[in-house]
This record gives sequence, structure tokens and C-alpha cells, in this order.
Amino acid sequence: MIHLPIPPAQPLVLFTDLDGTLIDHHTYSADGAREALHRLAGRGIPVIFCSTKTFAEQTYLQQELGILQPFIFENGSAVAVPKSYFTPKSARVLTPYKRTGNYELFSLVNANAATIRSELARFPNLRGFSNASDAELSDATGLTGNALQRAKDRQFTETLITPLHMDEIDPLNRELAKRGLALSRGGRFHTVQPVQADKGKAVQWLKQLFRKNTSGQLLFAATGDSPNDIPMFNAVDLSFLVQRFDGTWTDIDMPGLVRINAIGPSGFSAAVSMLLGE
Ligand SMILES: [Mg+2]
Repeated sequence: MIHLPIPPAQPLVLFTDLDGTLIDHHTYSADGAREALHRLAGRGIPVIFCSTKTFAEQTYLQQELGILQPFIFENGSAVAVPKSYFTPKSARVLTPYKRTGNYELFSLVNANAATIRSELARFPNLRGFSNASDAELSDATGLTGNALQRAKDRQFTETLITPLHMDEIDPLNRELAKRGLALSRGGRFHTVQPVQADKGKAVQWLKQLFRKNTSGQLLFAATGDSPNDIPMFNAVDLSFLVQRFDGTWTDIDMPGLVRINAIGPSGFSAAVSMLLGE
């Protein structure tokens, strides 16, 4: 049992989902979380994005919020780590697949977006970020211009804008499984991803590095809003579920899960207040 708020000397790492958690479901704005992020930075607590969003989207958001931290992108397909963030000793066994800007990128999966796109060609009724027009994508997401292009810049996964009916999901999942792929449900869309892509595994991967880099007992917490956050919740000590945009909680039954009585970024901020005290 972890008592809240945590003591000021307790080292903590906070993983967070983005869509519908740190950023508003409708406006995509993180403004409602800025004060909480400022408090976390003041306590030296890293905030680790863990999201379906792309590398391009998350680096843009980090710059906007003045954050330079590791993050998990495309649903756990890969992890970006700022150069020299971890000591060379702790990271020496790892080889990035790419170095770009301030980050080294590490892949945790065996497939990429090109593989997924060619497999999805068998399902011509499914429209995703790669085969829909910009106008269709704008209608579905509300994103335009550069923000839309950042969302389209997918390296490992394909987000579908075609709504799936409950009875379509199992058959599609079975077909995808034959090809090493799986469906994941976010707050808004389904995403087709490599079967190894797992927010939880990516969280575990980063936890090892944080542990090797930190003396003392590290505590890990997470905030999220949808079923695709369950693996992340399972990988941490303390989980907070914020309300979705309609004021409901997604149906997750997990011992110890703390349900926050607030939506999206307000919920994130309330979770931070519970962690750190008012
Ligand atoms: Mg979400």
C-alpha cells in the first residue's frame, strides 16, 4: 500500500498517456496540465509520454511544453531517449536504430509501417492514416496542416479511421494475428500494430534504465484514460484513471486503480495533486 501524497524525498517517475489524458480529447491542448507539469519539474520528477502518437507529434509537444525526456511512441513500438540521458554504462547494451535531433530511437518490435500497410491492402474497406486523403483525416481527427502531417508520420503502426463494429473486431484480430499484427483500441480509433508493440513492455524497458541510473527505491506511477493504457498500468506501482471526455471512466477492473473524478488534463492535474499533495 502506497500512502499519498508521497514524501518529497521519494524518487518518482510518472508515465502518462497523451490523448484524453495529458491533452484534451477535442482540442489536443495540454494547457490544462501545464501547472501540474511545472510542479513535477520542480520536484525533478520525469514525465514520460507513453502514447499512440508518433515521434514527430511527441517531440513537437515536448518542445511546446519545455520537456526533454524519454518517451514511448506508437503504442510501445519504440522508445526515444534524449542523447546522454542515461549513463553510458546503463545504456551500453542498447543500439539505437536511428539518431535524430536530440534523441536516440530504439525499436522494440519486428515489423514496421510498410509491412502493416501492405498487409492492410487485403482489407480495402479499412481506411487508415496511410490510405485516407488529408480531407478525410481532417474530418476524422480535427487535425490540419503540420499537425496532421506529424500524425501521418508513422514508423511502426497504422491508425484506422474506419469505425469498427464490435462483431468485426474478433475476426479482424484473427486475420491480423496470422501476420504478426494486432489491433489496439485508443480513446478515438483502433490502431493496427506489430503484435510485440506493448505500452507495458516499453514501460518495463525504460524502468530498467531508470533503476540502473538511480540510487534508492524508485516509485513508478502512470496516468491514462483508455483500455490501451492497461499494460502501462500493469507495469507501474500506482495507476490513475482519468475520466473520458464524456465524464465516464473506461471499464477497467484492476485492483488498486485510482479513479480520478476529472476529465483529461484536469484529471492528470488532480492525479499529480494526489501524488505530491495540494
Ligand atoms: Mg488516451
